[in-house]
Parts: sequence; C-alpha cells; structure tokens
Amino acid sequence: MFERPRGTNDWTPQDMAKRRYVESRFVQVAESFGFREIQTPIFESLELFAAKSGPGVVEELYAFKDKGNRDLALRPEFTASIVRFYVNELRSLPKPVKVYCYGPAFRYEEPQKGRYREFGQLDAEVIGGAALASDAEVIALAIGTMRAIGLKQVRARIGHIGMLRAYLPFGPAEQAIVLHALDKRNFDMLEDELTRLRHEPLADPLKRVVALHGGAGVLEEAREILGGKGGEAFDFLRQLSEQLAHYGILPSEFEFDMGVVRGLDYYTGMVFELDSPNLGAEKQVGGGGAYTLAEVFGGEPVAQTGFALGVDRLVMAAEAEGVFGPVPGLDAYVVPIGESARGRALEILTTLRAAGLRADIDLVGRGPSKNLDYANVTRARYAVLLGERELKAEAVGLRDLKTGQQREVAVRALVEELRKG
Ligand code: AMP
Repeated sequence: MFERPRGTNDWTPQDMAKRRYVESRFVQVAESFGFREIQTPIFESLELFAAKSGPGVVEELYAFKDKGNRDLALRPEFTASIVRFYVNELRSLPKPVKVYCYGPAFRYEEPQKGRYREFGQLDAEVIGGAALASDAEVIALAIGTMRAIGLKQVRARIGHIGMLRAYLPFGPAEQAIVLHALDKRNFDMLEDELTRLRHEPLADPLKRVVALHGGAGVLEEAREILGGKGGEAFDFLRQLSEQLAHYGILPSEFEFDMGVVRGLDYYTGMVFELDSPNLGAEKQVGGGGAYTLAEVFGGEPVAQTGFALGVDRLVMAAEAEGVFGPVPGLDAYVVPIGESARGRALEILTTLRAAGLRADIDLVGRGPSKNLDYANVTRARYAVLLGERELKAEAVGLRDLKTGQQREVAVRALVEELRKG
C-alpha cells in the first residue's frame, strides 16, 4: 500500500465535477470581461520566486535540483510566471494586457483543512492599465466569479498599502518589516521594529488603523488617526467604491478594511482579500492588489493589478452554501435484451454518443433486470431497452427512470427525444 504525499488530495468524480464547475465559471466570467487564457510552466527556476518574494520564500517552496543540476521549484502561485512571460514576450501586445490562467500550485505548508501542499488557483492580471480603472475591473471580476459560482456570503475587504507607506517615515526595507508585522497582526514584532527605528509613537496609531473596517466612514477615521498622511489613498478608495457601484457591485459585497496589508513588498496601491465566513480559520478564498514587479524581472516598470482565488476553498464555500446539486447521471443507459440485440444496441449507443449525449452500456455481462438496477443506482435519466420486438420495428423501449414510465420510440427519433431531457 502506498500513501499519498502529505498535503495532497485524490479527487473523486464528484469532487472533480465541483472543481471543474468552479473553474468553468471563472473562465466564463473572465472571457466575458475580455481576459484571455495563457499558461505557464508548473516549475520555474528557483531564482524567479526568490527574486519576487525574497530568499525567505525558499522555505515555503517545493524546490529541487534537476538532472542538469539546475535549481528549480514548483510554482507557489502564478504571478511571478506571468510577469516573467510578460517581460519576455507579452509586453509587445497592445496595453492593457488582460490575462488569466488556472491550475495547481504548490507550497510546503503545514496541512490542515483548506490548507494543502498542492492546491488549485485561479489567477487574473491586468498589466499596463491605469490604476483606478484596472483595480475596479479586477475586483469586479473576482466578485463576478464568486457570484457566478452561486456564492452569496462572500465579501471583499479593500484597503490601500499606500496609506501606510505614506505614513511610515523610513525606506522600503524597514517598511517591509513593519508591514509584515501588521499583516500578521504581530504587535510585539511591530513594537520591536519601531523601537529599533526610534519611532515607538507610531505603534499606537498603526494598531488602531489596522483595526478599522466598514463603510466610507472608516476612511475619514483612518485619515484622522494618521494625521492627514496618505490622503491620496483615501481619495482613491472613495473613487474606487464609486466605480464598483457602476459595475453593479452591491454595498453588501465589499467593505473598506484598513487592516488588509498583504505583507509582500511589491504591492504598491489597492490591496484586497475575499472571505467566505463559513470556512472558519481558512476563510480567505482569495486576495490581490496593485503591484509593480516587471522591473524586478528586468523589464520596464508597468502598473499591474491581479488576484488569485483558491479553487479548494471556493469549492468548500460552495459546499457550505449548498450550491451543488447531485452530479447528473448519464443521459441514457442502453440495455440489450438477449445476446442477439447487443450488436444493434452498440450501433444505437454509438449514434447517441456521436450526438453528444452521455450514453453507456453494460460491460460486465449482466442480464436486463440487473442492468436496469445499475442504471437506476447510477441515476441515468433514461434506459433504452432493445429486445426482439423492438429490433424488428426499428424502435426502442424508452424508460424514464424518474417516473418508471416506458413508451416505444422509433430509433430515428431517439436522439431528439433524449435531448428533451
Ligand atoms: P495567496 O497567494 O497566499 O494570497 O493565496 C491566494 C489564495 O489561494 C488564498 O486566498 C487561498 O484561497 C488559496 N491558497 C493559498 N495557499 C493555499 C493552500 N496552502 N491550500 C489551499 N489554498 C491555498
């Protein structure tokens, strides 16, 4: 017996139906927004991720050497790969470049419910657009995807990293430590760092600001606590909420949250996170924001906004909200009655399959009544029965497995009848 590697999952047909459903809703909404699908490798050079997130990230990666002694890593997310692709090739496309992709990502984490070492992500990025318009577009796509999945209890929490950056009177390297401490709500670390920088008095206003969340009123409160610093960020968020209203995003679908910090250095402007309150500790289904990374990878600086949603958590949220009905069964299960009917039954089966219907037939050698049991248990919609009499009449017995009623249907009319559902 072999065990799965820790933090990985096997997915049953029922699980896969849910995962594909979530992915297909995302694809549909992203396409309707004018985003185009791309794909990047599942592994990249280790350096790429270290350049984006700093050497500390190696701890969280599935890093390995290949047979050519190259340092590689499985992707922990898509952003680094997409920016690399953009800098190398996509930058000659007309701006903005709007792309999406989805697939597995890998992180060396302590597994628990909703936190795995292999998990699915949906990613979308706008590269080279104006900040306000791109940010609104990306948030509307994220919320639109969750609506399309059928989720009702999801909320976007929107903040702005520029507010804190404008308030912190020291360089990006020191800011990074303070922002990381705020992101993790690690106030001991915050105080230690501010003491080291001789800026202890900033601790109290920072702690109060990151606790603020709610409607437009919190923007005023935050502005006051920060003594007027970071004013542009507040004006920006106000305008952003106006744009979101024009997109039809409801006030109940988002709030301002001055505590969304997202510790990584490369965020520059708006930052947001999406929660499903049903999920407990791992309630965050997605996150994103505005950043500049292209220059880190040797390109010209360019404004970008993107997000990643977690497939596993979206599926769990949808399960918790009762979004999924039973997985539909076959359209038709063909039942030959007697060995002489099997040849014609296979021909009819092939016609149904060619017409795009989901149709199956016995591969075990069961008799007609056992076949009907099987069709019922697997929740096929119809049984298509073919005996001596039907063979002669070029007809089949079409049994509705919901009602148990059966009628004779000409073979040439069968596809049309089955398509009626
Ligand atoms: P992040 O890049 O960390 O903001 O992740 C974006 C989204 O991916 C999160 O909100 C989660 O939904 C999902 N995610 C991140 N890490 C994991 C994990 N280890 N297991 C499952 N989902 C994850």
